[in-house]
Amino acid sequence: MNAYSRPGVVVRTHEILNYFGKCPACGYPARATEARGTSMRGTLEVTVSASCELPCGWSGPVPLTIMT
Ligand SMILES: [Zn+2]
Repeated sequence: MNAYSRPGVVVRTHEILNYFGKCPACGYPARATEARGTSMRGTLEVTVSASCELPCGWSGPVPLTIMT
């Protein structure tokens, strides 16, 4: 887990351990990382990005609906 900050914005990331999505490029299980940021207006912004566990180079955003 790591954290960094910009003026007015705090972002924390952590790996999603119960993510079971697969790489759309090669089909191998992917890992996902969730990033939570708080804007200057105090709204919570959550984004999830996934990357392939094989070095095929794929990474991209994934929908939050994969989480239960
Ligand atoms: Zn892949």
